[in-house]
Amino acid sequence: MCMQLGATFDAECAFHRETKVSLLHLADITEKGVTFQSPVDGKPMLLTPEESIQIQNRIGADIIMALDDVVKTTITGPRIEEAMYRTLRWIDRCIAAHKRPHEQNLFGIVQGGLDPVLRDICVRGLVDRNLPGYAIGGLAGGESKDSFWRVVAQCTAALPEDKPRYVMGVGYPLDIVVCSALGADMYDCVYPTRTARFGTALVPEGVLKLKHNAMADDTRPIDPTCACMVCRTYSRAYIHCLVTKDAMGSQLLSYHNLYYMMKLSRDLHMSIIEGRFPEFVCNFLRIMFPKGDVPEWVCNAMEVAGIDISSCCSPFSSSQD
Ligand SMILES: [Zn+2]
Repeated sequence: MCMQLGATFDAECAFHRETKVSLLHLADITEKGVTFQSPVDGKPMLLTPEESIQIQNRIGADIIMALDDVVKTTITGPRIEEAMYRTLRWIDRCIAAHKRPHEQNLFGIVQGGLDPVLRDICVRGLVDRNLPGYAIGGLAGGESKDSFWRVVAQCTAALPEDKPRYVMGVGYPLDIVVCSALGADMYDCVYPTRTARFGTALVPEGVLKLKHNAMADDTRPIDPTCACMVCRTYSRAYIHCLVTKDAMGSQLLSYHNLYYMMKLSRDLHMSIIEGRFPEFVCNFLRIMFPKGDVPEWVCNAMEVAGIDISSCCSPFSSSQD
């Protein structure tokens, strides 16, 4: 994994995310740490902030993540505040336990649910610790798109511009483009491979469902504009035949989907470096929403990001979510 500003997509981290948020119901969180069921024998195991850092010190990745107290954004009440303050207490235990600070970059994770006051306290607390990078956590857990982008916008605006800003668990290609416009630099998500397992390919127009009967005699590649091994070698009809019967179809679709995400990140990154990011955004939206029906949350986010997308929006057809 490398540290780089301006859109990176890390498929490896996706595992970390999947074990964290979607398995929360198996975890019990106290001040000591997180107790969860061992994936090996089902016995309870306690992971403390110190141990999580020791394990990551041994693995040696150049970016390591603090252990945080994460709650779903759909939860309300005092639990959100408790988790945010505990995340701040745990960052100090993580910093103290970190034995390789000159080789490994410890990222803190901003929590605070959908509450702007709590998010602000958490951002300021983490920035005070002068960490090498910051993650925005606890999102992509079922909140509305409008709540989602507003938290991202608030955090990216308050986090230092010269440090990487990582939105955890994001996401769909559209989310990545929107969050990048709001100043985020890094992402991770299981989506490209998970959706592949359901027979869905990512394409510039959105998604292509390979299980659909219409694919049965479509001899075109998944995405005629894609240069990946799968698109150069196989037809939609062939992959349709596989995905309806065999695991191999999911593997080919995963290959294409990861290639698609990496190309999207690379193109996005280059457009920032070359000073043509607004054009990149417009072009991306024009292909994904050819009728100009760009969702309203995207229009709102782009207004805050200062990117004029009026040329790709139809004035009469903006839709919610
Ligand atoms: Zn491809």
